[in-house]
Amino acid sequence: MTDSFSTNRKKQGFDYLIVGAGFAGSVLAERLASVGKRVVIVERRPHIGGNAYDRYDEAGILIHPYGPHIFHTNSRQVFDYLSQFTAWRPYEHRVLANVDGQKLPIPINLDTVNRLYGLSLTAAQVEDYFASVAEPVEQVRTSEDVIVNRVGRDLYNKFFRGYTRKQWGLDPSELDSSVTARVPTRTSRDDRYFTDTYQAMPRHGYTRMFESMLAHPNISVMLNTDYRDVIDLLPHDHLIYTGPIDTFFDFRYGRLPYRSLNFEHVTLPQEQFQPVGTVNHPNDSTFTRVSEFKHITGQTHAQTSLVYEYPTAEGDPYYPVPRPENAELYRKYAADADAMQGVTFVGRLATYKYYNMDQVVAQALMTFKQLEPELAGVRTE
Ligand code: FAD
Ligand code: UDP
Repeated sequence: MTDSFSTNRKKQGFDYLIVGAGFAGSVLAERLASVGKRVVIVERRPHIGGNAYDRYDEAGILIHPYGPHIFHTNSRQVFDYLSQFTAWRPYEHRVLANVDGQKLPIPINLDTVNRLYGLSLTAAQVEDYFASVAEPVEQVRTSEDVIVNRVGRDLYNKFFRGYTRKQWGLDPSELDSSVTARVPTRTSRDDRYFTDTYQAMPRHGYTRMFESMLAHPNISVMLNTDYRDVIDLLPHDHLIYTGPIDTFFDFRYGRLPYRSLNFEHVTLPQEQFQPVGTVNHPNDSTFTRVSEFKHITGQTHAQTSLVYEYPTAEGDPYYPVPRPENAELYRKYAADADAMQGVTFVGRLATYKYYNMDQVVAQALMTFKQLEPELAGVRTE
């Protein structure tokens, strides 16, 4: 990569400087390189892949250093696009929540209710049960509304209130409905976390997939580098920025809150620790969830590696925080971003959207389409 960097640079600068080697930056680099553009990606971290980066730990177990990443999408276009760079291993994620001393399926389903309350309801009866305990809300606005309106206060308190307060440092009543609405309620016995059409893990991991995306002679990658330290040294026509948008503008309107996590990685001398990929702990610990990687990757190994997630306000920005005042502050930054010539903002941090990986890929592919008129133009040196 260093070699292609020197050769590329000697020629005549770059067409595109891309900040960040996560999904947003890497998809755009690949697309732009494929139509003959010369691209340099500048990444602050010592690796590609952004938060989806994976690696083998000391025990030889494939782990996700930034928390468990499970790929799922309903978009054929996104799945087909990524399939150029990886084979897949089918995987359907299952999650249990540690509630009242039991490990119960989440999303809440028929079995969750029956086991929690010692009932034997049918699917039709559980729908009536939800209706009988629901607290109807006239206008569903918050993350509290969306749950109590559907399943009532007790299930809300047991599964959502404590988890959300830990994860976000806010009460669900202070967060947009979209946050807890990510988790559906079911009357069936379906215990999959996602129901998307395509659910699979990159067969050899995310990092290998990113390596394959970026293995193009038109793409140079600089790791361990903040773009601000090199931007003047790298002549380029267009900047694509995938970092936090408020940082780009030196916080001119104030800080946009991004929620962070501390990850505690543990390896145990036993084959399996828990029955499924993730166990949530809504009320009983300071961590929110524990994930066991071998369930997710399908690896066989005599030992097992886990990650515990401890939410925090300080640290690397991982989650935009969906609530009205933050959307309003983001709009100010977005207006300045729109007014800039030759700079494009894309990705979860730069557009302040609580996007999954597939949504970021879709956004990057759409951004590439929007760049097409510019790509058709002739570059002047
Ligand atoms: P990022 O991956 O954050 O990439 C941005 C990159 O820009 C970073 O590598 C950063 O170092 C770099 N950068 C920032 N500033 C600078 C600078 N000044 N100079 C140079 N480089 C810079 N999605 C799913 O679909 N399924 C999941 O199961 C899932 N689980 C998740 C679990 C956790 C704990 C988290 C935090 C996220 C999860 N996601 C999941 C979301 C997924 O991580 C994101 O959708 C995706 O990685 C976003 O890609 P991105 O390129 O927009 O941003
Ligand atoms: N959530 C909850 N209890 C759970 C699972 C999720 O309260 O057992 C809420 C919580 O606010 C969480 C949100 O739903 O942040 C979205 O959950 P998801 O699993 O999609 O979070 P992510 O994987 O993005 O961290």
